[in-house]
Amino acid sequence: MSPVENRRRVIVFGLGGTIAMSTTSTGGVAPTLSADQLVAAVPGLSEANIAVDVVNFRQVPGASLTISDITELAEAIRGQLADADGAVVTQGTDTIEETAYLLDLLHDQAQPVLVTGAMRNPTLAGADGPANLLAAIQTAAHPAFRNHGCLVVFNDEIHAARRVRKTHTTSTATFQSPTGGPLGYLAEGQPRLLNHLSTRTVVPAKPGDDIRVPILTVGLGDDGTLLRALTGHIDGVVIAGVGGGHVPSRLVAPIETLAATVPVVLASRTGSGSVLQSTYGFPGSERDLLARGMISAGYLDPLKARILLHTLLSANCEAATISQAFGSAGGYANPETWPWPTPSAKDA
Ligand code: ASP
Repeated sequence: MSPVENRRRVIVFGLGGTIAMSTTSTGGVAPTLSADQLVAAVPGLSEANIAVDVVNFRQVPGASLTISDITELAEAIRGQLADADGAVVTQGTDTIEETAYLLDLLHDQAQPVLVTGAMRNPTLAGADGPANLLAAIQTAAHPAFRNHGCLVVFNDEIHAARRVRKTHTTSTATFQSPTGGPLGYLAEGQPRLLNHLSTRTVVPAKPGDDIRVPILTVGLGDDGTLLRALTGHIDGVVIAGVGGGHVPSRLVAPIETLAATVPVVLASRTGSGSVLQSTYGFPGSERDLLARGMISAGYLDPLKARILLHTLLSANCEAATISQAFGSAGGYANPETWPWPTPSAKDA
C-alpha cells in the first residue's frame, strides 16, 4: 500500500471559540474562521501523514453552546466515524469541561473523540490553536487511544473528559485534572498514553434543553432563600457544598424538602477530591445529608455532576439507577456497577 492509501483519517468538527476568532469591526474578537481555515493554518500537518476532513458544525463562543448542540454533535460524529480513525472537536474553551464530558457519556464507538481549542486567539503572538489542533489530530489518529471515549488535548497534555477542569482564565495550561492527573502527554509529535480509565460510562440518552438542573454553590452564611425558590422549577439540583460536602445547618430542612421530589446531588465546591462519606456527624455534614437521601457526586466536580444528572434524567432513569450511576462514575463504588454495558468490552 502506498503511504497515501495507508494514511489514517481524522474528521475535524469546528464549533467556533477563541481558536476560530478574528478581529471584528466593532472591536474585540469573535468566531469567524471555518474548520478548513483552522486546519490549513496548522504547520507540520502534511508531515504527519494523516488525512483530515472537516465539518463546519457551529460558529459560536463556548458560552453559547447548548446541551442539544452537543447531542446533535454526538450524532454527527457517530454518522461520520465509520471509515475514520478518530474525531477532533474545536470549540470555545469556556465550556470544554462540560461538552467533553457530555460527549463522553454519549459516544459509544471505539474511535476516540478529542476536544481542543485555544487560549490565545489567532491575532495574538504565540497563538496556541495550531499546536493544540495538531496535537489533537495526532492523538485522534493514534491506535492507543481507541476505546477511551472522549478526551481533551491541550498544551501537549491529554486529559480524561470526566476529570478535566478549566482552572485559569488566560493561561495556556488552563486545563488540569486535579484529581487523577492527565492520562497522557505529547512529545515530539507522539501522543503517549500513561494511565487508563477503569471503565467507560456511556448512557443511552439524547439529552435536550428541556431539563433544568442548576448548581447551587453554598456560601458563608447562606440563608436558604435561593434553595427554597427552586422548589417546583427544577428537575434535579447539584449542591456544591463547602469542604467535603457540607452545608449550614439551616439548609438541611429545605434540602430535605427538595430531595423528596427531585434528585439532589452533593458535590464539593473545592474543585478537587471526593465528597466524604463517613467522617463528620454535625447537622449539614456529609453523613447527615447522605442519610437524608442526597446522592454523592464522589470525585465528580459540580459541573460534571450536573452534566451526568441532566443526562440520566433525559434517559428517564429512576432514583436507584441515578444513585448507581453516580457511585460508578463518582469513583466510590465498583466501576463495573455502571448501569449500562461498557463499549470498550464490546469493541476491544
Ligand atoms: N475564552 C474562550 C475560548 O477560549 C471563549 C469561548 O469559549 O468561546 O475559546
